[in-house]
Amino acid sequence: MICFMCKGKLKDGCSTFTADVGDCIVIIKNVPSRICGQCGEVSYTDEVARRLEQIVDSIRQTVITEIAVVSYTNKAA
Ligand SMILES: [Zn+2]
Repeated sequence: MICFMCKGKLKDGCSTFTADVGDCIVIIKNVPSRICGQCGEVSYTDEVARRLEQIVDSIRQTVITEIAVVSYTNKAA
């Protein structure tokens, strides 16, 4: 895999995903990611991207706090 921004080499790692869903900001920690060693661009596999969408969706419907912080690994279990 290469970075779509700078064509640098991507490394496997973990990052924090943040989504602004209007009333609420969702922060998902420990997300398996591919991180560019050159420019720091973070990308996700299709599977992870879908899972992130599901997590954000479920939080929108259940959480009424302004900021929700969850761990990807807990939610994925
Ligand atoms: Zn890059």
